[in-house]
Amino acid sequence: MKSSAEYSNSGENKLDNKADLHTHTSHSDGFLSPSELIQKARETGLEILGITDHDSVNAIEESIEVGKGLGVEVVPGVELSSAIDGREIHILGYFIDFSNKTLLEHLAFSRGERLKRAERIVEKLNNINIPLKLDTVLEKAGSGAVGRPHIANALFDEGLTGSYVEAFSKYIGYGGPAYEKKHSLSPEETITLIASAGGLSFLAHPGKYTTEMVLQRLIKSGLDGIEVVHPSHTPEKVRHYHDIVNQYFLLESGGSDFHGGKRNDDGALGSYNVPTAWVQEMKERLF
Ligand code: AMP
Ligand code: ZN
Ligand code: FE
Ligand code: FE
Repeated sequence: MKSSAEYSNSGENKLDNKADLHTHTSHSDGFLSPSELIQKARETGLEILGITDHDSVNAIEESIEVGKGLGVEVVPGVELSSAIDGREIHILGYFIDFSNKTLLEHLAFSRGERLKRAERIVEKLNNINIPLKLDTVLEKAGSGAVGRPHIANALFDEGLTGSYVEAFSKYIGYGGPAYEKKHSLSPEETITLIASAGGLSFLAHPGKYTTEMVLQRLIKSGLDGIEVVHPSHTPEKVRHYHDIVNQYFLLESGGSDFHGGKRNDDGALGSYNVPTAWVQEMKERLF
């Protein structure tokens, strides 16, 4: 068993930690195109990069191609939002077959639901006299899966909030006056969907909002691993989830959840690296 002292979540970049398994591109709410992200990963010294867009695998093919040229191995991934009683639980799918028909149908459906939710959020904002236009939001999203970060960007750029973060705290965050739920599967259905596409399911950033009870429920439902390293995790949480992984013979993953743009998380890429051996362990679990 590895000890948690072999890696850190403190921004320190250990020599053998050359993998970042949680990043977003412009195909969801990330700022960089797949090519730009791979280039940046290379410059940061990463050897393995997980591409985990929300509800989209459209960045994967380009990423793999560009990665081959630059010597960055791409782990095909996706981040799916599931929910229990209206509270979100994000599940990462790794090594999914990104041409799997059932998966692609689900992703297309979820993106459609995201668009409908964006419409409802803009309507709610308009009802409280915030004059945001849907088109301004859709311009930000381009062809990517539209999400609240695009709405936050639009609100800020239109001078309707003082900052990106304020858009969440004042209007569109959980419990806010323009908050709207997303369509979500249950976490169990999400784990099944990922398995049916040949992938491994990991609970994303559990330290943010997952209770121990929910975690136990997911482990019983066939969860393959836990995202141990994440910017939202204190070193104590990293150790805690590392211990749970060992206790239940699960796998571990981690990464920066890098998005770029107005989040000011430019330093994150390369600061939450994990051992490349973790990816090897995933591959061994698959075959
Ligand atoms: P969505 O998938 O559309 O619900 O958007 C989720 C994204 O919004 C995630 O990437 C979060 O990091 C971001 N987000 C959610 N709540 C907040 C918040 N209170 N402040 C800043 N970003 C947030
Ligand atoms: Zn995101
Ligand atoms: Fe997430
Ligand atoms: Fe994410």
